Amino acid sequence: MTNKATFCSDMSVDLVRCLADDDIVIDSARVSTNTVGADTDVSRFIDFLVRDRHGSPFEHCVFTFALDVPIFVAREIMRHRIASYSEESGRYTASRLKFYLLESHRPLVQAGKPGDYKFTPGSQLQIDYASIVNASTCVEAAETYQAMLDDGIAREVARMVLPVSTYTRIHMTINARSLMNFLSLRHATKDSWYKTSPLYEIELVAKQMEQQFKEFMPHTHAAFIEHGRIAP
Ligand SMILES: Cc1cc2nc3c(=O)[nH]c(=O)nc-3n(C[C@H](O)[C@H](O)[C@H](O)COP(=O)(O)OP(=O)(O)OC[C@H]3O[C@@H](n4cnc5c(N)ncnc54)[C@H](O)[C@@H]3O)c2cc1C
Repeated sequence: MTNKATFCSDMSVDLVRCLADDDIVIDSARVSTNTVGADTDVSRFIDFLVRDRHGSPFEHCVFTFALDVPIFVAREIMRHRIASYSEESGRYTASRLKFYLLESHRPLVQAGKPGDYKFTPGSQLQIDYASIVNASTCVEAAETYQAMLDDGIAREVARMVLPVSTYTRIHMTINARSLMNFLSLRHATKDSWYKTSPLYEIELVAKQMEQQFKEFMPHTHAAFIEHGRIAP
């Protein structure tokens, strides 16, 4: 046996590359009036585009993120169809046997019904129970996975015993318009005109993406906030 379970609680989001800034949006919008390169008040123009939901100029800005997240988070991310994805293969490479470990402050108990619910921390007993069961299940799955490989069973079959808390790597390429849609749904803030209740872990991913978005496209980000976090 060579491969052992390791544990992590991070949602890793690295910017691989981007072609994104507010000027690209302005140029793309100005094609419409044959005024590319004309003097512009960037802030006002972008505010107008977001407010009136002229969305296509934002599609010319693109971000590629490298994510290392548990499968249950990747699965939610990939519901966002207006993005491109490449994922680590469980057929061509052996699993890294890296698993998500619940942190003690991760909300544990759901109160309310679907569509109207909130999460509370849980008792110390619940925290201990969830953490221990989570970790021991992963260790057992890792041992079974490795034993199957040692026994000559193909990776694509052995991986079937691994839980959704197993980490996977993804490259996600997404344009700024679609990114705003992602952020509107996956990062809940007081500025939002529409309520959303994202999974705790996907929100950790969204917050990191939003930092990059804000850094590269400050005027677009400001307009996004100003107009209720609605993708134009
Ligand atoms: C809090 C929360 C809970 C959720 N719960 C569930 C759940 O229980 N079960 C579940 O299955 N999903 C669930 N989802 C996923 C959700 O239904 C969306 O699939 C996901 O958020 C992606 O959003 P999107 O379709 O806007 O994004 P994208 O797929 O990136 O699409 C962007 C936009 O393009 C347009 N578009 C894309 N594809 C189509 C299409 N085929 N037809 C028409 N227009 C299209 C839409 O305007 C869409 O808003 C949940 C999401 C959230 C935020």
